[in-house]
Amino acid sequence: MNGGRFYVISAPSGTGKTTIVKRVLGEFPEMKFSVSYTTRPPRPGEKDGVEYHFVSRHVFQKMLRAGAFAEWTKLLGHYYGTSKTFLDECLAEDIDVILDIDTRGAEQIHKNYDEGVFIFILPPEIGDLKERLTRRGSESQEVIDLRIRNASKEIEKVENYDYVVINDQINGAVERIKAIMIAEKCKRERVLHHFRKTVKS
Ligand code: ADP
Ligand code: 5GP
Repeated sequence: MNGGRFYVISAPSGTGKTTIVKRVLGEFPEMKFSVSYTTRPPRPGEKDGVEYHFVSRHVFQKMLRAGAFAEWTKLLGHYYGTSKTFLDECLAEDIDVILDIDTRGAEQIHKNYDEGVFIFILPPEIGDLKERLTRRGSESQEVIDLRIRNASKEIEKVENYDYVVINDQINGAVERIKAIMIAEKCKRERVLHHFRKTVKS
């Protein structure tokens, strides 16, 4: 078994996943974020190479044909994909990675890699999604309605996940995700993998 883990985090849009992931990354500086490629236009404040690599549909499809993605999906007319090279490099170096991807992408990671720890985040109530998306103010009412409709389909996939975290209060949700990650770091195989490396060197 390898020493690195892929923390695959999914949630219906508006749950607070991006907010939580940013906080968790701030707490584990050795962990990396898998910056996805997308054809979705940037939201105000999003920077190329930070939240996403923003690419044209032409570039995305070229990458797809070249086998550049470990998984990919199409949501509300936009493509999203995870760099295979990035994941393979992290695995080779025993680095933990957070993947913020949808349930279809999570299924592909489950199939293709042994290192996934699958975490699903839920709002306390489905009605909270509309309120949070409206408050975020980054999309039109039409897109918000589409995202809410997609949310019910996403929630049906919860059984594929190892852990479920309710984002009632942001601090509590971040603490619970940290607890999952700390427990994973203490798994016997993981500790022994690092221990054996020190014996060899
Ligand atoms: P996602 O990435 O899941 O679509 P965001 O992280 O963009 O969601 O959060 C959507 C909105 O909800 C943001 O305005 C964020 O500040 C807010 N939010 C996040 N967590 C909570 C929470 N626990 N309670 C209330 N609002 C929250
Ligand atoms: P958003 O447009 O709000 O940033 O993201 C929409 C959805 O796309 C979220 O559920 C997010 O997790 C998912 N997503 C982002 N990047 C990827 C990716 O590379 N692959 C997959 N499968 N989903 C992604």
